[in-house]
Amino acid sequence: MATITLDTLRKEFDNGRIVAVDDLSVAVEDGEFITVVGPSGCGKSTTLRMVSGLESPTSGRILVGDEDVTDQHARTRDVAMVFQNYALYPHKTVMENMAFGLRMSTDLSKAERRERVRETAQMMGIEELLDDKPDELSGGQKQRVALGRAIVREPDVFLFDEPLSNLDAKLRTTMRTEIQRLQNDLGITSLYVTHDQEEAMTMGDRIVILKDGKLQQVGRPKDVYENPANEFVGGFVGSPSMNFLDVSVEREGNHVVLVNDDSSFSYRLSESFSADLRETTHETEVRIGIRPEDVTPASDGSNLIDSTVGVVEPIGSDNYLHLDIAPDFIARVDSDIEPETDETISITFDESDLHVFHPKTGESLK
Ligand code: ATP
Repeated sequence: MATITLDTLRKEFDNGRIVAVDDLSVAVEDGEFITVVGPSGCGKSTTLRMVSGLESPTSGRILVGDEDVTDQHARTRDVAMVFQNYALYPHKTVMENMAFGLRMSTDLSKAERRERVRETAQMMGIEELLDDKPDELSGGQKQRVALGRAIVREPDVFLFDEPLSNLDAKLRTTMRTEIQRLQNDLGITSLYVTHDQEEAMTMGDRIVILKDGKLQQVGRPKDVYENPANEFVGGFVGSPSMNFLDVSVEREGNHVVLVNDDSSFSYRLSESFSADLRETTHETEVRIGIRPEDVTPASDGSNLIDSTVGVVEPIGSDNYLHLDIAPDFIARVDSDIEPETDETISITFDESDLHVFHPKTGESLK
């Protein structure tokens, strides 16, 4: 069983002036693929380096299965790491690069090592590269070799540190699928660090979102997308980003009406939504979030909001309409909806797609 347990894991630098990882607790299940995502400096790499043993925690524990590996040397941990810069030995051939880790971690004979490398290379489609040196390979080939070198060791745990960042967009998509397929076939518990929310969302069984070293949310991509724990997660996950608007909470009988005077935004909530909201908060001002794909143009019905179209950005299948409801407010609509700049259109959205956040803490209220 290769579960990974991070138990109130903490890493400080500079005599505590920098808290890179702030009491992080995450339990990774056996065979699970977890992506770790967040903005630059949020502590992703430091977390991974602690799991690998390259960095030692200030406090907290790391368990692989039932074994506490917190104080174990990197070399004795059964984890394999794949880096962004590939970290291949330039003077060794692909065969030697892949066999090297095996020499350090197993007592296989040279012939057995070469056989295992050959089998893995075949599985990865890089058999014809075995006699090449790294500088003869393309970026994609180097990353395949780096992956192969990790896989050949048959580790308990895979750690990936932004492995696809140096590849072009098309190759990145191909490699994403390839890594997922390999991980599925091999069932090796994996932690995968990326700053790319789309990569994190598409690859992870579950996604861990960090900010300033602190855990913001952990969950299945769909759950995190639909029920962000706070405003930061709402804005970080999804593209284009969630639209935000500050509104006041007004009463109208049993209904709550959300109002923003600057943009003549007024949205009347149903009785049940109003009751739920009043139960969770007494704030008179809240911040609401609505995803661009949930905003729809409409000509009749209730809760119509008038807005002026700024830029119309075509992206092929859809158009992004920039609306003057709030700064950077975008509606993602079908490409056959093409209003003119400065045209006034009415939009609306389903109440069920509305997110409500605390105006100060940012925590989700509904
Ligand atoms: P990026 O996406 O830019 O790689 P990250 O999320 O991986 O960022 P970390 O590299 O883990 O972030 O860094 C977290 C914080 O710890 C940052 O503020 C960073 O400057 C700091 N930090 C990391 N390593 C050290 C170190 N060796 N000494 C001092 N500060 C460090």
